[in-house]
Amino acid sequence: MNDTHFLQYYNQYPWITSPRGLMPKWSFSNGFSTAYKQLKNIGDFIWLKSGDEIPINSGNLYVSLQYKEDGLDKLIQKAIENPDMNITIGGPHFHTDLNRDFPSNITPVYDKSVEEHFNIKYSPDNWGLELPDGFDDIGYNFSLTHTNMDCYWGKCKYCKWSLKLYKELPVLKIPIIEYPSHKYIGLKSAAVPPNQMRKLLVDLPKRDDVSYNFYMRANETSLEMLQDTLPKMKTHNLLISIGVEFPSNMMLNYMNKGTTKEIIFEVIKLLSNYEDVRMHLSFMLGWGNLKWDYVYEAEEWLDNLNETVNLNKITMVLYRLFILKGTRIFYNTPTTSVKETKYGSYFCILNDEQQQMDNYLRTLYYKYFSSRILDYYNDNRHPHEFTRNKESWTTENQMS
Ligand code: SF4
Repeated sequence: MNDTHFLQYYNQYPWITSPRGLMPKWSFSNGFSTAYKQLKNIGDFIWLKSGDEIPINSGNLYVSLQYKEDGLDKLIQKAIENPDMNITIGGPHFHTDLNRDFPSNITPVYDKSVEEHFNIKYSPDNWGLELPDGFDDIGYNFSLTHTNMDCYWGKCKYCKWSLKLYKELPVLKIPIIEYPSHKYIGLKSAAVPPNQMRKLLVDLPKRDDVSYNFYMRANETSLEMLQDTLPKMKTHNLLISIGVEFPSNMMLNYMNKGTTKEIIFEVIKLLSNYEDVRMHLSFMLGWGNLKWDYVYEAEEWLDNLNETVNLNKITMVLYRLFILKGTRIFYNTPTTSVKETKYGSYFCILNDEQQQMDNYLRTLYYKYFSSRILDYYNDNRHPHEFTRNKESWTTENQMS
């Protein structure tokens, strides 16, 4: 038996909701796939469901762990019971409680992809995935950039992804794993830049049994690219994720989203004309700087959207705003009370009036998207929330 193992997790953490319910049924956090061809020469792959007992008691265990603190408890227990084991846990989206202690035979690797950790050059040719037996309705991931932690825009104030290491992969080789049921492929990157999206729309294999999901910015360049490319689009079964966050121009400006509510509206309207394209919009609540004007602006935008497009084709995800330490997000509005989370970032404490505005918006979102909402407001696993890369933090700690 090999004394090195790579542990990945599957779960039922849904990607989207649809008239079919939550989809896909199973999703794989296939963090080792990007270096699969190198790693399979080193050890064996194991799939577990988060919280399962770990069937290995010796040797080296590398674990791709994200958003899974229950998996972490099992790993710590395993390390204590087997002091000769060496366990390395990490991944680009791995985070833990800042005060958490690890046994000495656990090495946590924060904010790093497996290629970076093993010093493997990222290439789509290294990609591979061994599926556990007996699964159907599966979603898995394929990366479009050499790290999933950087964005070609990289300027949104609340987001930890920056332009720093952003590198688009030159080749498009999206692997389709053949199994009988529908396949959902998450094309992983921060926002896909318009030139890469143009290639995706034209080059992705068109298959009835495959859906693709990627995330784009709804800005002016994307709008122009879509106007030009959508009529020539060859693929179908697309689910496009778009960060709306808050449809008010002042709020978008605070966030530095680099777009306006009008442009976002036009992008959604254009995409909604295509039968094979569905959209998954994200909105954020939990702002400490709202004014009723911004709230009514958002309401008007939603009303117009409802009158213009078929919202039944659109699903949404609701997040809470988390702010990285040292980020100035609200500019010249009054200082906001914030509270530090155990992961080292902050959320706004809402006073009564801010809470009223928050509730008002929540009611609106539920009015228009009802059962098509994935509501993560109370879930601290917001991907923008965590970072352990303290070097990137500033010493400034003002939230004004
Ligand atoms: S929020 Fe989206 S567009 Fe903005 S920097 Fe982050 S990944 Fe890029």
